[in-house]
Amino acid sequence: MLGRVVEFAERAALRAGPERALGLLHYFPDSAFDAIRHARFRRTVRLAAARSPFYREEFRRRGIDPHCVEQPSDLGDFYTTGDDLRANGPEAFFVGRADTAFETTGTTSPVPKRVFFSRREISDMGRLSALWLHVLGLRPGDRIVSAFDCSFWVSPYVLRSGLDWLRCFHVEAGKIDPNEFYDRAAVYHPTVIFGEPSWIVRLSEIAQVRGRWPLKFLLAGGENISEASRALVEQAWGAPLYLNYGQTESFGALGAECRMKNGYHRNDLYFFFEVANADPDGYGELIYTTLARDVMPLIRYRSTDVTRLIDEPCGCGISMGRLGKIRGRCDEMVVCGMGNVGPWVFEDILRGVGGIGGDWRVAVLAEGPRDVVELHVEIDDPSRAADVDRQISANLRERFQDFQKNRDMKLYDLRTRVHLPGTLRGAGRKLRRVVDERQMITV
Ligand SMILES: [Zn+2]
Repeated sequence: MLGRVVEFAERAALRAGPERALGLLHYFPDSAFDAIRHARFRRTVRLAAARSPFYREEFRRRGIDPHCVEQPSDLGDFYTTGDDLRANGPEAFFVGRADTAFETTGTTSPVPKRVFFSRREISDMGRLSALWLHVLGLRPGDRIVSAFDCSFWVSPYVLRSGLDWLRCFHVEAGKIDPNEFYDRAAVYHPTVIFGEPSWIVRLSEIAQVRGRWPLKFLLAGGENISEASRALVEQAWGAPLYLNYGQTESFGALGAECRMKNGYHRNDLYFFFEVANADPDGYGELIYTTLARDVMPLIRYRSTDVTRLIDEPCGCGISMGRLGKIRGRCDEMVVCGMGNVGPWVFEDILRGVGGIGGDWRVAVLAEGPRDVVELHVEIDDPSRAADVDRQISANLRERFQDFQKNRDMKLYDLRTRVHLPGTLRGAGRKLRRVVDERQMITV
């Protein structure tokens, strides 16, 4: 009951303008947010059990009575995985009518995960995004140019929905070549730029040569970024670069940085966060349950991202807890300037390349601000190295237009390193195919 009353107050607060909403939410004690979170969790579990074929069947099979579930740990070792989404199809998760869908690209499998949403969900998430952008200093007089990739990707949609509440001037450039962006965006006099981190790094290098614009801030999402690259961006523009962290499955931000840039403040109103298999420092796989979804709720969804929960107060004064900087992924997928790449990408790139052995590995490195994707292969005849390199480039161009496009835009470098047969595997160790060797910011 308390949860319902507080929830009503929270919704009323969010419907006010950002300034008023922040003022009202400030009066909510932590216990009120906790009550909302638990009420929404219970409702989500019951709704999913009643209407989603996947959850109904899983709960039945495991003997889980949804009416006895009060918190995530009551579900024992039950989790939802990306493979569950792919194997069962999105319809198995539906509890209501969908208005739109987005896809995750380049996961550990070539099959995209499809996630469906309602306009109500989009509008709610837009309000929260607007609130956060207001916290970061965005005001109606600001002029935004966004370079998010619009193809099946959720981020541009979330941004637009947030801007509907903030009523800023907004131009959508799409993810075009940063040189072209620099030429075409200048006439709109942007004060805030949105894009993916590797794209923003490239744009910043151009700005260093051609001149900076007076920006208020830049906001990046979709990939991780090293502290060195962030420093380059901030130096180039004389403005801060903030990151947000989300997944298509979560629809928008699970968390976002504040001015302190010290981890992502959690969206505890719309997600119930847990960390599984935590190490002694608290780092483990981030698990979240969606709390405000009426089309495709996800219960204890395994993000495959490794981070930790931080509940100590943040220097910015905002009481919401944080997620630490993402340390890496539990699977072998790496998010970098090339795109979201996993073993299957390189298997496909190497398919048909003459003169190489079956073993290979990929290291993703950071050289200066740019990611380098280093493809290690074994060949019998070292004199054929240049030929192998040429075939790999041709396959990339032919089979992965998106990754080629990012290469053309100089968002990353791809290079081939050749080794003698039998040397990559070492002493019979299991070969880890794709390894992220970049030094990331850790909080
Ligand atoms: Zn903070």
